[in-house]
Amino acid sequence: MYKVLMINVDELWLKGKNRPQYFRAIKNHIETVVAAFHPYKFKVKNESQRMIVRSDEPFKEKVFQALQRVPGIHSFSPTRDIELDYELLYPSIKEELTSWGDKLPRTFKVNTKRTLKTFEKNSMEVSREMGHLILKDFDNIKVDVKTPELFVELRILPDKFFISTHKYMGVGGLPVGTNGHLVTLLSGGFDSPVASYMMSKRGCRQTFAFFYAYPFVGEEVKDKIIKLMEVLATYQKETSLYIVPFGNIQKKIAKSCKEDYRTMLFRKYMVDCANILAGRIGAKALLTGDALGQVSSQTIGNIALVDSITSRPVLRPLIGFNKMETIIKSKEIGTHDISIIPHDDACSLFAPKHPVIHPDNKYWLEYCTNNEYAKDLQDAIEKAEKIMFSVRGELIPSKNS
Ligand code: ATP
Ligand code: MG
Repeated sequence: MYKVLMINVDELWLKGKNRPQYFRAIKNHIETVVAAFHPYKFKVKNESQRMIVRSDEPFKEKVFQALQRVPGIHSFSPTRDIELDYELLYPSIKEELTSWGDKLPRTFKVNTKRTLKTFEKNSMEVSREMGHLILKDFDNIKVDVKTPELFVELRILPDKFFISTHKYMGVGGLPVGTNGHLVTLLSGGFDSPVASYMMSKRGCRQTFAFFYAYPFVGEEVKDKIIKLMEVLATYQKETSLYIVPFGNIQKKIAKSCKEDYRTMLFRKYMVDCANILAGRIGAKALLTGDALGQVSSQTIGNIALVDSITSRPVLRPLIGFNKMETIIKSKEIGTHDISIIPHDDACSLFAPKHPVIHPDNKYWLEYCTNNEYAKDLQDAIEKAEKIMFSVRGELIPSKNS
C-alpha cells in the first residue's frame, strides 16, 4: 500500500555548517534499518531537508516500528504516491480513509502543500475540494480546522501526488555517531538501560561493557544482559557488548580492603577497566546509570571520588531522575520487563553492612597505591567475550565460531 515514507528529521536543522554530516549519518542509519526489515530494493533521498524512502514494494509495519527507534527522526508518514492526474486524487484519498475501517477519527482537516507552483489549482482549492468530497462520502466525520484528530496531508510534487493520513513519532534528537563514541556500563537493573537510551538519542554511538562476577553470580545474569542488549541495540546502528570477567578481581578487592570500601573500590576498578576498553576502541567518554543519592555509591562525595580517578568523563544522564521517572521511561523504551527479572548481584553479595559515604582520602590513596590491579584489568579485557548485535537487535554470529 505505502511505497513511500516521508521522514521529518528532528534537531538536524540546528546544525549550521555541519548539517551535511548529520544528514549523511541519518540517511545511512535509515538505509541500514530499512534494509534490515524490507527485503526489496529501495532508495533514500534528501528532498528539501526531508528524507524520502521509495520502493516498488509496499513497506510493512515492522519497518515503521524500527524507524520509531532511529535517533534523529522526529516523525514520519507512510505515504501513497499516485500519478499527477487530478481525477485520480480523490479515489485514492477515499481508499486511504476507507483503510482506517472503524478506527477512522471523527474530525479531520485537509492540508495541501504544493511544490509544483504551476499546478492547475492552488493548495487552498485542492484542500477545499477534497474536504467536500470526503464529507459527502463518509458519515460521522466533520471538519475541524483547529484541532482535528486526523490530518489528510496532500503534497503536489512535479510528477506525483503524495497522500498520507498516518503519522508515527520517532525518538527525536540527533543521529547515532554524530556525538562521539561511549563505553556504556550496563548492569541488569532499571537505570543503565534507560541511561543508554538517553544518550542514543543525543547521537552517541555506544559499546557496552558488563562486568560479570562469575562464578559468584549465576549464568542467568548474562542472559538478562543479552536480553537488554537485544532492545538497546535497536536504538543503535550496530553495536557490541563486552562481557568482562570480574569475579576474581572483586574477590581480590573484597579480601584486601576495609569492608566499608568494597563497593566504591569495585566501582573504581570497573571505571578503570572501562577506560582501558575505551582506549582500545577509541571511545571518548563513559556512561553509567547513576542517579544522585540513589545508593551509597552515588552520593555526591562518591561521585566526586570516581570522577577524580577516571581518565575520561563519566556521563550520567539520570543524575536528577527519581526512580519512578526511570521506571516509567524503561516501560516506554521496552526494557522494563527485562530489568524487573530478579538477578544475582555480586556487589550485594560482597556488600558491606555500612558502605562508606564520606571516604577517607588517605586510606583510599594508600589502598590504590599499594594494591596493583593493572595487569588484572588488562587481562579481564583480553578475556572478555565480545558479542555483536545487529540493528534488528539480534546477535551477529562471530566469524570464528
Ligand atoms: P542499574 O543502575 O542498571 O539499575 P544497579 O542499580 O544494580 O543497576 P548500581 O549499583 O546503581 O547498579 O550501579 C550504578 C551504575 O554503575 C549502573 O547504572 C551501571 O552503569 C554501573 N554498573 C554497576 N554494576 C555494573 C556491572 N556489573 N557491570 C557494568 N556496569 C555496572
Ligand atoms: Mg542503579
